[in-house]
Amino acid sequence: MRSDEFYMHRALDQAREGLAAGEVPVGAVVVDADGEIVGRGFNAPVSGHDPSAHAEVRALRDAGARLGNYRLDGCTLYVTLEPCLMCTGAIIHARLARVVYGAAEPRSGMVESKANLFAQPWYNHRVEVEGGVLASRATRLLQAFFAERRGD
Ligand SMILES: [Zn+2]
Repeated sequence: MRSDEFYMHRALDQAREGLAAGEVPVGAVVVDADGEIVGRGFNAPVSGHDPSAHAEVRALRDAGARLGNYRLDGCTLYVTLEPCLMCTGAIIHARLARVVYGAAEPRSGMVESKANLFAQPWYNHRVEVEGGVLASRATRLLQAFFAERRGD
């Protein structure tokens, strides 16, 4: 198993692919218990006409298809931005062991910013969480995207 930073760099690579595709640059990878990357995804709702095509959901789908299982027991998701309402739900459904994210999302983050959905007593499944890994890199990518859109 490599460091959290190593895998977050791979998630940042995905975010850059999103940026190149004109999407809000958020990237994610799923890593299995042996440390192998088994799923990748970048944010792509615009190009896919798909409101659910967040980086996390696309990485979970990729991992599920590769592993042949909708439950990703023992896996860790690395994502460059704090997950939203939908993605925290998908993470719980996937039975992930752990989530590591980069930058906090003050407007819609559901892990620390607006709420911590993983800490709710009505879920049986517990997800370990760590935030702030390579956060400044994730933030810089997002700032580059929005500055370009504003024409700065
Ligand atoms: Zn999301």
